[in-house]
Amino acid sequence: MSKPLPPGSTIGLLGGGQLGRMIALEGRSLGYRFVCWDPVAGAPSAAVCDDAVTAPFDDPAAKTRFAELCDVITFEWENVPAELVEQLQTKCPVRPDASVLAVVQDRLIQRQFLSKHGFPQTEYRSVDSRARLEDALKSIGTPSILKTRRHGYDGKGQTPLRSAQDAAALPDALHHILEKRVSFVKEISVVLARTEDGKTATFPVAENVHRNGILHTTLAPARVPASVERQAALLAVSIANELEHVGVMAVEMFWLGGEGNDQVLVNEIAPRVHNSGHYTWGACRTSQFEQHVRAVAGLPLGDVTQHTPAVMINLLGDVWAKGEPDWSAALSRGAKLYLYGKEQAKPGRKMGHLLLLGDAERSLAQADELLRLLAR
Ligand code: AMP
Repeated sequence: MSKPLPPGSTIGLLGGGQLGRMIALEGRSLGYRFVCWDPVAGAPSAAVCDDAVTAPFDDPAAKTRFAELCDVITFEWENVPAELVEQLQTKCPVRPDASVLAVVQDRLIQRQFLSKHGFPQTEYRSVDSRARLEDALKSIGTPSILKTRRHGYDGKGQTPLRSAQDAAALPDALHHILEKRVSFVKEISVVLARTEDGKTATFPVAENVHRNGILHTTLAPARVPASVERQAALLAVSIANELEHVGVMAVEMFWLGGEGNDQVLVNEIAPRVHNSGHYTWGACRTSQFEQHVRAVAGLPLGDVTQHTPAVMINLLGDVWAKGEPDWSAALSRGAKLYLYGKEQAKPGRKMGHLLLLGDAERSLAQADELLRLLAR
C-alpha cells in the first residue's frame, strides 16, 4: 500500500469535462493541486485547475510534460487511449489502473468480463458482420439493441432493432454487440469508492430516468425494496473488487421488478465519477468527487450517509434554445444550480444540473415544469 499523497501534491486529470471540473473543485478544498489534459482548449475543467495541457492524446511532448507535472493521475473519461495510460503508468502512478480501462472501453470485453464472473446481465452476442447479426437475431430475438463496441455514450452508437428486417439496412462490416432489450421496472445505479487496499464505501442506490439514451433525472435514495438495494450494492462492490478498481465507480443496472422478483441485471460499468452520483454533492456527507480524490490520494474514505432525499435534473443544451435560461426561476424555488462553464449550448449537450433537496417525490413531479420555466 502506497503512502497517502500529502495535500499540496498535484493530481492529473485525463479529460477536461464537467466530471473533472467537479473533482477539481472538491479536491482543491482538500488542498490538492490539479492539472487536466484535454485535446480541446477551454475545457470545463481547465478554468478550475492550476494548470492545463491542451494537446492531442497522442502528442509525445504533452505526455512527458503531463507526467512531470503530476504526482498521481486519474481520469474523468474512460475513452482516453489505453496505450497512453499504460505509458503514463511507467512514469507516474495512475488510479485506477490501465487494466480497468481495458475491460470497460470495449462493450464486448466488458460483457465477457461480467459473464466470466457470473454477474447477471442481458443476453448478448458479438456481431462483426451482417450475417453474424442475422444469426444473433435468430437466437436473441427482438426487440434488441445493436451497440457499437467502442466510444458509445449517452445512447450514442445504438440502433434499436424491432424486427429481423431492420438488419437489412445495416452495412456488411460491423464491430458491434447485439443485446436483448430488457423490460425493466426501473433503472438504478450504484456509485461506490474503493481504495488501493480494498476498502469500499457505497453511496445510497439511485433511480434514474433516461430520455433519448441520456440521463434526465436521478432520485435518491431509490424507491426500491431493501432486498434490491442490498443486492445492487453487493453486485457493484463485487465488480469493483474483481476489477481491483481504485477510485469512484458506478454500475448502472436494470431492476426487473415483479412480485417477489428482486432480480437486477448489470447494464454498464463506468470506472469514474458518474452523472447519477451528482446528487451526492449536496445530499451526502461526502460527495462522489471528494470521495474520488480521497481514494486516488490514498486517504480514508469519507462518510457516505445521505442527509436528505434529493432529485438531480440534468440541464441539456436544449434549455438554451431561446437564449440564456431564466435562472431565477430555479433559484427562487430552492434548487441548487451547478453549471459546467461550457460556452456553446448544443441540443443534448450536458451543460449543468439542478439539485432539489427535501421531498423527492414532489421535486420529481416538478422537474419538467422547472425545465419549462428555465427555457422561458
Ligand atoms: P447505455 O449507453 O448502454 O447505458 O444505454 C443508454 C440507455 O439506453 C440506458 O440507460 C437504457 O435506458 C437504454 N438501454 C441500453 N441498453 C438497454 C437494454 N439492453 N435494454 C433496455 N434498455 C437499454
